[in-house]
This record gives sequence, structure tokens and C-alpha cells, in this order.
Amino acid sequence: MELNLYYKLVSSEAEAHKYLSKKCLKNGHRFCPRCNNRKLYKLSSERRRCSKCKYTFHDFSGRWISHGRLSCVQWLSLIKLFELELSVRKMSEQMNLSYNTVYQAVQKIRLAILAHAPDAEELLDGEIELDESYFGGHRKGNRGRGAAGKVPVFGILERNGKVMVTVVPNVTAETLIGLTVKTVRRGSIVYTDKFRSYDSLMFCGYRHLKIDHNKRFTSGKVYINGLEGFWSWAKERLIKHHGVSKENFPLYLKELEFRYNHRHMDIFNIVSDYLCDLVP
Ligand SMILES: [Zn+2]
Repeated sequence: MELNLYYKLVSSEAEAHKYLSKKCLKNGHRFCPRCNNRKLYKLSSERRRCSKCKYTFHDFSGRWISHGRLSCVQWLSLIKLFELELSVRKMSEQMNLSYNTVYQAVQKIRLAILAHAPDAEELLDGEIELDESYFGGHRKGNRGRGAAGKVPVFGILERNGKVMVTVVPNVTAETLIGLTVKTVRRGSIVYTDKFRSYDSLMFCGYRHLKIDHNKRFTSGKVYINGLEGFWSWAKERLIKHHGVSKENFPLYLKELEFRYNHRHMDIFNIVSDYLCDLVP
């Protein structure tokens, strides 16, 4: 989003409303958020009643953006600050809103992102890296596999493509291979390190290449630096949030996955689209 276009959008509530309400149309038409019917009675400039199910709604009813008490200008400002990766505290200062109001709205952004997260329907293929990492916990030392109090995360990265990260209960072969089979197309080349849980990949229809961490700089294409790059990128960003609760961690993780996968795209526009979706 060009900065001057953004300034125009937030110059008035009418402009901001127009931008967001347009994203709620389907093929250019309003429709009932309950039954999808397009035949509606106009009650006022914003309110409509469905001719079929009689539901009365406004432009943002049933959508992520209707939750909370933000105006359209405030939502757009929030999306901009989210794009710029400000902390909730800094956002609330900039927007002159309470911490809690901003926190709740940012959680809506995260939930809308989660609803769009890539899932097993989009199989990854080509050259794939698999790796696990541990997040959280205050204690240093005892790092790596089996670190107590830390959350194991499994990552699947398509070289020159997407990353998919999932909180896992453990890093057994059953868990890791199970997720791989659901996500990665058979026949793909799969790179891992020498962790035993990956040993049976070759029996699941993959070409499995293992890297030796001691020799990783000499083994040519056999590396998992893409995923290792993601881990350090993600951990650096999490520091800013000063400790994320275990319950909230999966949501933050999906935000990071989204940011990484859209790092060359217009996050402002994409998040605005997501927020105008109907809440599933
Ligand atoms: Zn209806």
C-alpha cells in the first residue's frame, strides 16, 4: 500500500468505510451473511434485511472486523501498525486506545490469519526441508531436542516457497512423519538432519537426504539453512512480545508463518481482506 493512498483512506470515516465494505462484497454484491441470499431490503444506508431468512445486518455483521469497538479509520490504522510490527503497547499509545482494546483487536487479526493458514489441502512439493525447534522457556542451556518447559515446533519449508509451522505434542517419528505425509507430496526431495524420527521417510515415498551438521558447508545442496533461517527470524520477533503464554503461542506462531510467507507482499491489503471475511 502506497503511503499517500493509505493517508487518503484514513482521512475520513467515509473513505475508510468504503474501502473496507467493498471487501465484504461477493462478485460486487452484498449478500446475507447467514444464508448467502442476495435479495435484500435496504433499511438504511448501512442496514439490510434478508428477504429469505429475515436477518437484519450491517456491512460488517458476522465479520472479524465487527468485533470490538473500533471505527473503520481505527481498524485501518491498527492494520498499518500491525504491518509495521509495533507492540500492542506502542500501538495503544499511538492510537490513544486502551491496551486491552488494542490487544483484543490484534487477537482478531491473528485469528483471521489463522483461519487462512495453509493446511493439508495445499500440498507442498519440490525440494522440502523438515526440522524441529524449541520455543519459549526462560532457562538457557539444555537446548535442542527434549528441552524441558519448551514448546516443540515442527517446520516444513518448501525451498523458494512457503513455510508451514505447527506446535507438536512431541517429536516422535509418528508425529513428524504423520504431519509430513499430510503436507508434502510424495516423490518430493526431503532434507532433514540426522535425527532418528526422520529415518522412515524413505519408506513413505520420499527421496530422503540427510545432512550432517558437522559437514553441512561441504555437502552442497543438502542443507536445511532455509528452515534454520526461519527459526532465528521467528525467535527474534517473539522477543518483542516479552513472553507469550502457552495458550497464545500457536496464534503467534501462525502470525509469524503468515509474515514470512507474505514478506514480499502487501500485508496491509491482505490483512484488510482477511478481517472482512465472515467469521467461520
Ligand atoms: Zn439470509
